[in-house]
Amino acid sequence: TSFAHFGFDEQLMHQIRKSEYTQPTPIQCQGVPIALSGRDMIGIAKTGSGKTAAFIWPMLVHIMDQKELEAGEGPIAVIVCPTRELCQQIHAECKRFGKVYGLRSVAVYGGGSMWEQAKALQEGAEIVVCTPGRLIDHVKKKATSLQRVTYLVFDEADRMFDMGFEYQVRSIASHVRPDRQTLLFSATFRKKIEKLARDILVDPIRVVQ
Ligand code: AMP
Repeated sequence: TSFAHFGFDEQLMHQIRKSEYTQPTPIQCQGVPIALSGRDMIGIAKTGSGKTAAFIWPMLVHIMDQKELEAGEGPIAVIVCPTRELCQQIHAECKRFGKVYGLRSVAVYGGGSMWEQAKALQEGAEIVVCTPGRLIDHVKKKATSLQRVTYLVFDEADRMFDMGFEYQVRSIASHVRPDRQTLLFSATFRKKIEKLARDILVDPIRVVQ
C-alpha cells in the first residue's frame, strides 16, 4: 500500500509528504481504510508503530465531513490517553496535520493549569486530546461538552488500566453519544481490555501490528 491508496485530498497528502514518510507503516495500511470506513476498530500496536497517524488522518476526514453536517460547540473528536507526555505528543501531531484544514486541537491533562485549559476549551477546538480524569473534571465544570463528539479514541488502553483509570475510561465512553465511531488502541490484548472492547465498541475490526 502507498499513501495514494488512502484517497486523502491534496492538502493532507502535501502535509504527509512534508513529513518525509516514504510509505505507510503496517498499522496504517490496515487501520486507515477501516477507520475511514466508519467502523469501530481495535488496534494492537506499540509506540513507534505509527499508530498515532493511523487514527489522526481518518479523524481529520471524519471531522471535515461532520463539521458540514452539524454546527455547534464542543469537540467533534476526543482522544483519551494515559499521560501528559503522550497527550502533548498526540496534540502536536493533531496540530501538524489538522492545520491544513484550519482545525484546532486542545490538550488537557492532569498537572496542567485547570484555568488555562478551560480557557483554551472555551475558545473552541474540534479536537481535544486528554487524560481521562482531567477531561471529566472539565466536563463537570462545564468548560466543555461532549455532545458533539462522534469520533472517540482510547490510546494505550492497557496502560490506562494499569494506572487505575478504568472507571474514568468507562465513564467517558458512557457520556459520548452512541452513534459515534470508537477506536481502541492497546499494546496488549488482555482479558480486561477484551471486556472493555466488548462493552464500548460496536462490532469492531481487530488489527494487529
Ligand atoms: P507512533 O507509533 O504513532 O508514536 O509514531 C512513531 C513515530 O513514527 C512518530 O515520530 C511518527 O512521526 C513517525 N511516523 C508515523 N508514520 C510514519 C510513516 N508512515 N513513516 C515513517 N515514520 C512515521
